[in-house]
Amino acid sequence: MKKNGVFLTGFHVPIAGGFAAAATYAASLGINAMQIFSKNPRGWSAKPLDRAEALEFREKRKEAGIKFVMIHTCYLLNLASQDEELREKSVKALAAELERAELLGADCLNTHVGSCKGCPPDDGLRTVAESINEAFKLCSKSPALLLENTSRLRPSIGGSFRDLGAILKLVEEKGRTGICLDTAHAFGAGYDVRSAAGLNSLLKEIDSEIGLVKLRAIHFNDSKAALGSGIDRHEHLGMGEIGKAGVALLLKNPKLKNLPFIMETPRSSPEDDRKNLATVLKLRVFA
Ligand SMILES: [Zn+2]
Ligand SMILES: [Zn+2]
Repeated sequence: MKKNGVFLTGFHVPIAGGFAAAATYAASLGINAMQIFSKNPRGWSAKPLDRAEALEFREKRKEAGIKFVMIHTCYLLNLASQDEELREKSVKALAAELERAELLGADCLNTHVGSCKGCPPDDGLRTVAESINEAFKLCSKSPALLLENTSRLRPSIGGSFRDLGAILKLVEEKGRTGICLDTAHAFGAGYDVRSAAGLNSLLKEIDSEIGLVKLRAIHFNDSKAALGSGIDRHEHLGMGEIGKAGVALLLKNPKLKNLPFIMETPRSSPEDDRKNLATVLKLRVFA
């Protein structure tokens, strides 16, 4: 998403101190994009979002110069579940996430598609689309819902852009959808984003299966795990298997340069965020 030609970058920021505190932390780093959870990501329950708190976040965000906010859905959602009870619970939770994202004034809501152990992958993809259709009906107005690629290919679902494309083709309200490319997940799934040829073939796949215009955000992470390992383990930028050269290649790709680059890199202290941000700014140099 291009906002006045400004490069949008930032982090997934914790909400332990509340939404406004998350925006304040982002401001302290000097970033202009951020991702947050809108509730505890590991539990089903969520107290209704307090309107005053949401309003305070919107104000703080504006004050802090945060131009792009993405919400990440709770980890328990499984839109592909063949267990009807769990699927319905997930649909309701997704609708609630859409509603909270709208209240918080977010630009996008990012979600994993889920898994369907033992079911034919095509059935799983169809189930995800049905779940999204139902959630959209329960919540008629929201920011765009982005599907994030996972680190595993078939028989798991959601690791390839073909899978994400197959889901999106079955979604009725197509204007409300998009995708988010997680670089570490793509690498784990076997897309070699370290090389120009590998990155180009990935972008070609996105374009032919989905359309590059639907790519709305990047989860910008290096990977501790090897290419094609199927393992999802994030690393500091330039210090993992993707490495400095790969990170630079991604940052400088003309097809990606107007997208928000959100890091979900390890954090033991704010210093880690400062270092990763410095790496991004240093490597994003156009000749
Ligand atoms: Zn994610
Ligand atoms: Zn991610």
